[in-house]
Amino acid sequence: MRPALALLASTLLACASWSPDPDLYGLQLDNRSSQAWAQRDDFRTRLRVIIAASLTEVDATPAQIAGIRLVVKDGSVDCNGAEATGGCWDELDRTLTVSTDAGPCAELLLVAHELRHAVHGDPFHLSGGWSAVDAFRETLAAGHEDDCGRAGRRR
Ligand SMILES: [Zn+2]
Repeated sequence: MRPALALLASTLLACASWSPDPDLYGLQLDNRSSQAWAQRDDFRTRLRVIIAASLTEVDATPAQIAGIRLVVKDGSVDCNGAEATGGCWDELDRTLTVSTDAGPCAELLLVAHELRHAVHGDPFHLSGGWSAVDAFRETLAAGHEDDCGRAGRRR
């Protein structure tokens, strides 16, 4: 049994190109961005803060998001066959994708918005509260004027 378990373990390790990150509340970060700010050493730390704040904002627990893959990428996002600009939640793949096109800093990524979809669904934004979640992103960004100041504001 022991060799079989070892084989199973090595197979699982070989198949996992990413794994749940306890520092990111169990999300599995797949950072594909080549933006300088997304490559900085503090990017994961900032994501952790953003995710923690977002959990409160969207009324979710870490257990509800554990195992979800978080893809950070540049450019548009293929969202269930349609093109999206800021982000997408793919229920089938349990994958949350956010685009760096949303703004020039981590805090402007649509993490809270897509997490709300992941936890509460509502793909067509029919329930109330979406504008508050989107405004929350601006509040996060306002705390990082160096990276998200004037250049980060949509006019
Ligand atoms: Zn949405």
